[in-house]
Amino acid sequence: MNSILPGQTIGILGSGQLGRMLALEARRMGYRVHTFSPEKDSPTGQIADVEYIASYDDANAAKDFASSVDVVTLEFENISFDVAKAIESVKPIRPRPGVLHTTQHRLREKTFLKENGFPVTPFRPVTNENEIKTAFAELGTPCILKTAGFGYDGKGQTKVNSADEAINSFAKLGTSEAILETFISFEREISVVATRGLDGSFVPFIPVWNTHRNHILDVTIAPAPITEKLAKEAAEISRGIMEAFDCIGVLCVEFFVTSDQKLLVNELAPRPHNSGHWTIDACVTNQFEQQLRAVCNLPLGSPKMMTPFAAMVNILGDVWKNGEPHFAELLRDPNTKLHLYGKHDARAGRKMGHVNVIGSSAVEVSQKILRTKTILGIE
Ligand code: AMP
Repeated sequence: MNSILPGQTIGILGSGQLGRMLALEARRMGYRVHTFSPEKDSPTGQIADVEYIASYDDANAAKDFASSVDVVTLEFENISFDVAKAIESVKPIRPRPGVLHTTQHRLREKTFLKENGFPVTPFRPVTNENEIKTAFAELGTPCILKTAGFGYDGKGQTKVNSADEAINSFAKLGTSEAILETFISFEREISVVATRGLDGSFVPFIPVWNTHRNHILDVTIAPAPITEKLAKEAAEISRGIMEAFDCIGVLCVEFFVTSDQKLLVNELAPRPHNSGHWTIDACVTNQFEQQLRAVCNLPLGSPKMMTPFAAMVNILGDVWKNGEPHFAELLRDPNTKLHLYGKHDARAGRKMGHVNVIGSSAVEVSQKILRTKTILGIE
């Protein structure tokens, strides 16, 4: 298989911040970039050569887009299987449509993980009251009810303490199929962002520790404070998952670490991930360059950290509620790096940017996280 080289064109499905950061890497390395989404002046479009505007379910437009580029990759996975197949009939799409089909649907994803022997939270598919009652009796209290289809950042999910509560919540979800799963009182949440090339090469970043606010990622700390054994296990599970569905590109595997030091896979994302943004300022190769290298059939870069500790703090739209944030004050620390995504409308809960910090100790990085939050008014 030939490599796609600088001067050739990368097609990105989606036009948000993940596409923007991929486009920045691609531009740095001399590639052309076309982005496909319904939005104008998007975070990715501001960096791309061509902003192709069409609906995500327009297969003809997607084929037209594909014919203008050399390879297609994605920055979000909610592209329909049919459109992805239509693109594949024109140009290579990496990861392949089958990977999207699995990961864009919670039930398919969990079933795939379970059937392939990966550790997942106990779950049952539910479609009616009787199934909810049976599932609840089998899984124990409390549970989490989630939509079977697409969901992210805690959208479409509720914690439930009884079968009746689950039945009520199911009615409110307005869906015909959901998942009931055991609520895990985990010790911490970690993730592994890993890359797999066309030749089967596999390069994971070190596992990181993620904390959330209102179900949205708040802070990532690298490396995660876990044993070396657990870190290796997390990397090996991630390798196994990428191999099991022949995933080319970047995959994020989110895990729960239980109090008895067991790993459970919570969710997969077949693309760079918010919990990998720290790699931009802390690693020899960041997650976006790895995505580019993988989809272009180039050798993967080193994921080595160039600093002992690093962290990322998300900046949501809420930060603008009292006016322009104090970015100049924030940047008084020379080891603090600001990334903004070029979004015009700072709505509450919307991811507008992030801050990366590096340091020589966990304490130093923790202090910088605190400082960032204080200056930006993040509670
Ligand atoms: P998800 O949309 O499935 O990634 O869930 C978003 C967040 O909800 C996770 O990062 C966890 O903090 C929490 N969560 C999801 N599923 C569970 C579970 N089974 N037990 C405990 N917390 C959960």
